[in-house]
Formats: sequence, structure tokens, C-alpha cells
Amino acid sequence: MFTKILVANRGEIACRVIKTARKMGIVTVAVYSDADRDAVHVEMADEAVHIGPSPAAQSYLVAEKIIAACKATGAEAVHPGYGFLSERASFCEALEQEGIVFIGPKPKAIKAMGDKIESKKFANAAKVSTVPGWLGVVENAAHAERIAGEIGYPVMIKASAGGGGKGMRIAWSKAEVRDGFDRARSEAKSSFGDDRVFIEKFIVDPRHIEIQVLADAHGNTLYLGERECSIQRRNQKVVEEAPSPFLDAKTRKAMGEQSVALAKAVDYQSAGTVEFIVDSDKNFYFLEMNTRLQVEHPVTELVTGIDLVEQMIRVAAGEKLAIKQSDVKLNGWAVESRLYAEDPYRNFLPSIGRLTKYRPPKEGKFGEIVIRNDTGVTEGSEISMFYDPMVAKLCTWAPTRLAAIDAMSEALDSFVVDGIEHNISFLAALMQHPRWREGQISTGFIAEEYPDGFAPIAPNSEENAVLAAIATAVELLRRDRLDRLGGRLAPHSGALKRDWVVKIGPDYLSVAIVEGMISIPMELDLTIDGKALTVNSDWRPGDLIWRGTVGGRKVAAQVRPVLNGFRIAWKGISVTARAMLPRTAELERLMPEKVAPDTSKMLLCPMPGLVVSIAVAEGQEVKAGETLAVVEAMKMENVLRAERDLIVSKLNAKPGDSLAVDAVIMEFA
Ligand code: ADP
Ligand code: ADP
Ligand code: MG
Repeated sequence: MFTKILVANRGEIACRVIKTARKMGIVTVAVYSDADRDAVHVEMADEAVHIGPSPAAQSYLVAEKIIAACKATGAEAVHPGYGFLSERASFCEALEQEGIVFIGPKPKAIKAMGDKIESKKFANAAKVSTVPGWLGVVENAAHAERIAGEIGYPVMIKASAGGGGKGMRIAWSKAEVRDGFDRARSEAKSSFGDDRVFIEKFIVDPRHIEIQVLADAHGNTLYLGERECSIQRRNQKVVEEAPSPFLDAKTRKAMGEQSVALAKAVDYQSAGTVEFIVDSDKNFYFLEMNTRLQVEHPVTELVTGIDLVEQMIRVAAGEKLAIKQSDVKLNGWAVESRLYAEDPYRNFLPSIGRLTKYRPPKEGKFGEIVIRNDTGVTEGSEISMFYDPMVAKLCTWAPTRLAAIDAMSEALDSFVVDGIEHNISFLAALMQHPRWREGQISTGFIAEEYPDGFAPIAPNSEENAVLAAIATAVELLRRDRLDRLGGRLAPHSGALKRDWVVKIGPDYLSVAIVEGMISIPMELDLTIDGKALTVNSDWRPGDLIWRGTVGGRKVAAQVRPVLNGFRIAWKGISVTARAMLPRTAELERLMPEKVAPDTSKMLLCPMPGLVVSIAVAEGQEVKAGETLAVVEAMKMENVLRAERDLIVSKLNAKPGDSLAVDAVIMEFA
């Protein structure tokens, strides 16, 4: 076994690898860029080597710097994590030449599977079911049209070197094939420096189901069940689970055995993933093989009890697998949610900044539930624009699928992140979605269910009652605390008022306190709009999470005092709720509502950024789709276009201006 390994990665996956290495008694070396000087993975490792400036191309992606760090520290092996150098055959070869072990497959397998066209040929030869299509490079638009005609529409045009959901285009007609071919090719060229594209049948409304394989250097190859990753946004995974609610034992076995056959065909060793799409009749088709540890590997670990990183390290050290196929049992259900630094209310625009609060739910086993949170950040960490915007991978395990989903729901509700925009509310809303809960999902789920993006969920009447109960309970404690402040005049009569009105959004609910007193913990018998309900909680002012039961239902919700009451976030619902005395409510109704300004006649800056150019003049008529302005943010130029035909009436910004989000760039007549 190795005595020292280097982890050529950052963030959560570097921390993940270090954890297992430490468990195995192996000394770890971290590498870090300028931006990661104070990162958690650097702190966790036994040693750390600085490898250069913040951009990955000058640090984490430079093979020579990693090799130099190995030599300087005496690391005998390198775990690459995912992304960065993990699928670069030339990196493995360079390590091999220096006598350093790559903890992953051999360069031959990486080369064979790294290219989508080549891997599809391999898969075909290994009798793996592949998506019908053209097994070669498409020469030009006319060629693309001919092939598409033979395959039948719709088709998908894909970059052979593609990854991360980039470089693919769907085409439903001849015209779309021509256009899609040109665009896929130029995207492939600019993203991957390789403009080869191919065409395959587009499988309508499929599921994404992938098989985890594990192989050693002694000819043993196993499959560790599947993960379903159908909850995707723009072909990128958001929520994953194991097992799949869709597969039966027969299909699982067929997919598993084909995956093993493919792994054997390329002499695969280490952990790897064979991705398939599966249609509604359970026909499955090979998509690609990822020759590395996958982001969503924890769900497999939770249902199999196998530590994949440990297996990778053992295989790389030459050990034989200690597990046989018959030892692999899928136990219970696991779900993973990816927490991203992005704003779900603004079309998932990336967000950066410092984590002023970062309080994940407690990890561990709680009764029949397991909570696991893989992360590379801590309170005070900075989410920079240099790297992946994933903040954490929250996983839950339970004996059944619905119990795992409910555990996830509660864990998300009690996950506090401040300082950046994040997608927790979106994930929390997903966990309540009936189609997801029933397992009726496909890769089109998010696009179909959230066609106009995500908006906070409006509470139904039952949920309103829960929110009103929480608002009343917290308001009583808030007032009690104010009353006890030193130097304040004795408050009123001091007696607990019976009647209250809770305003939640536009709704007013009547609350009566039937029984109970102000104390911590607190128990109140209430009626809400006439319906009786008991609320229990040990919340105290200042706590960010309100935990308790309302009408027998277990609730964890985030509560923050705001100007007019409390902001309560629960299951994707986010409202301001305020408990008032009836007289206050009566007067409050008379207050003029602050109306949001009409922004339909303005071009707002969608993100903080720098105006590069203004493409129009005052008085100019513009057609829908024409460029209005270009704003640079996060090193990307964003072209802002007219959404409809309009006339520019006023320009409020000029090139060089630095704008805040929502700043008015121009106005329309
Ligand atoms: P990447 O390398 O970017 O991960 P994949 O080939 O794995 O690319 O595809 C990513 C996703 O795109 C899949 O999970 C699936 O949702 C969708 N996809 C890819 N190929 C097809 C296809 N032929 N038909 C339908 N959907 C597809
Ligand atoms: P509200 O949010 O309903 O306006 P506040 O707590 O902000 O209530 O208090 C507004 C005023 O009402 C303060 O002067 C406060 O002392 C008074 N007040 C607070 N609690 C009570 C109570 N239980 N009965 C009567 N007056 C109260
Ligand atoms: Mg993929």
C-alpha cells in the first residue's frame, strides 16, 4: 500500500479523497492555486503545495506542476478526482514515466473511452446496445442532412470530445440539422479544441441511468448497481438517486453485464461509469463511459456500503478486489442534491461571494436515516468565479425511496447558506414535486415542469396554517424578549393576548390562542381560521432553524427576522409572515401596498457587470432579437437582446459603466 498520495484536485472531491486516505493511514498532499490558499482541502491534507495562479489552466490543469509537487513531497501516487486532469491519458503517461502511480484506469482505457465516436465503436464491438446513429465523423452540413434522413428525426448532433452537457444540439427537421451542425461544430471547436461531431437518434423523453463498474488489474470486473440521474437542467445533473425507481432486476442485470463487457473490452481497471439512456419501454442505449470517479458516486456508496475511493486506491496499489459480484447487494435508497452557487429566481445565473453563513445539517446516522454532506467549503469561504459553482453534495439514505426524499427535504430545510445566491429553495421544492415523488421522471423533467424558470412556491391553505402557527409562536417569543429588555417600561397588561391576525403574503389568517404560555420549549393550542391545531417547539430568538411539530407534523423551517415580521422558508416556500394584534391588522390593511415598479419597458442589467457596448441610440426602432447592449461579467460577454419589437426612448448607461444588478440600462417607449 502507498504511504503518501497527492490529490490533484480541489473543493469537495479533494476533501472526499483525503478522508478515505486518512482512514487508510495514508499521508496526503494537497495542491492549491492562489485563490485556494485558505481552502478546506489544504487545511485537511497533511502537506500542501502551491501550484500557481487562480485560473485552472495555470494551476490544476498543468501536469508538470502536479508531477513536480509529487517529486518535491515524495508522493507515490496521484488521485485526480473528477474534472481537471482526471481523463487525460497524456497525464497518466507522464506520471508513469516518473514512476508515479495514477489512481485510475490505464491510459489505453482513457483514450478508448475519452472520445465519444471511438467509445461508441468499442461499445458496438463489445455488443453493448448503442444509440442508433452514424459511427463516424460527420463531414459537412449536407452529409449531416443525409445521415439525419437515414436515422429519422429527431436526431442529436454531438461533439465527439464533448462533456459537461456542452456541444450538443437537437434537430427535428432538415433546417435544424444544418443549423445545429454548424453550431455544434463551432461550440465543439471553442470548448474542446476539437470540431469533430457525430449524429445519433435523439431518444425522446428518456431517463439517464448509469452503471458503476469496478475492476482490478487481475481480471476481476464487477458492477455496483445503477444511479438514476434524470433530474437534469440543460443536460447537467442536479439530483441523483440509487437505485433507479424504474429498473427491474432483469434490466439491471442486462445493463450491468453489458457494462462489465465494455470495461473488459478496454482492460478497464479502477472505478468507472457507463452511462445509458433508457426509453419508456426499458430499451437502454449506451451514451458514454466516464473513466473516473463520478460526482454522484456517494449514492452508490450509501446503498452498497462500498467506499469507492478506497477501492480505487487498493486497485491502483495492485490489490485484488476483495468483493465478488454476489457480494454486491443494494440496500435501501439514497438521494443526492447538488447545491450550486446560482440564483434559481434569475434563471440560475451563477453567483459568487463569501459564505457569510454556512451551516449544513448534522451528518451521521439518525435512527433509520443517514445524512452525508460532501463539501469543500466552510463558513467564511469564498465562492470564486474560477471554479465549479458546486458548494456541496447533500445525500440522504433511508430504507425506502420516500423516506430518503423526506429526509432530504428536511435536511435542505435546515441547511443555512448566506452570502451568495443558491439553489436550496429550488431543490426543496423539487423534493415536494408529485412527479418526482412518484418516480415519474425523465431528462426533460425540469424543462417541462419549470418552463418559465423557478418561482417560490405559493403555500396552499394547509401550508398557510403551518406558517401562521410558526409566525405566532415566534412573534410571542420576540415580544417577550423585547419586554424583558432592561430599561423598558413594563409592557401593557402582560397577559397573553388571545386573538391574533397573521398576514402571509396577501392572506390574513385569524389565530386564537386557546391554551398555552410563553416559554421555551413552547406548546400552544391554537385555532387557525377556526381549525384547532397544536404547535410545539424549542426555538429561541436568534435560532435560524425553527424545529418542532405543527398539528402533529414534523417541521424544520428557516426563520429570519425581517423588517415586517419573519421570513420563513420551508419546502421551497418562502414568505414574509407577520403575527399582529387584530387592531394592528385592521390598520395595516389601510396601508398603501408598495407596488413593484413596472420593468416591462426597461432593459435591466441581469448581473453586476461592465458595459462593453451599447448597440442602439435614443429614438431607434429595434426588432425582436436584435442586440441592445453587451455587458461583461465573470469574464464573459453577455449579449442583451430585444425580447420584442420596440423603440428606445432613453439610454441610462454608456460603455465603460460599471452596473449593479437590476440597474436600468435603457428605457423603451
Ligand atoms: P456529456 O459528456 O456532456 O455528459 P452525454 O452523452 O453523457 O454527454 O449526454 C448528457 C445528457 O444529454 C444525457 O444525460 C441525456 O440527458 C442527454 N442526451 C445525450 N444523448 C442523447 C440522445 N441520443 N437522446 C436523448 N438525450 C440524450
Ligand atoms: P406590531 O408588530 O404588532 O406593531 P410591536 O411588537 O412592533 O407590534 O409593537 C408595537 C407597539 O405595540 C409597541 O409599542 C409595543 O410595546 C406594543 N405592544 C407589543 N406587544 C403588545 C401587547 N401584547 N399588547 C399591547 N401592545 C403591545
Ligand atoms: Mg455524460
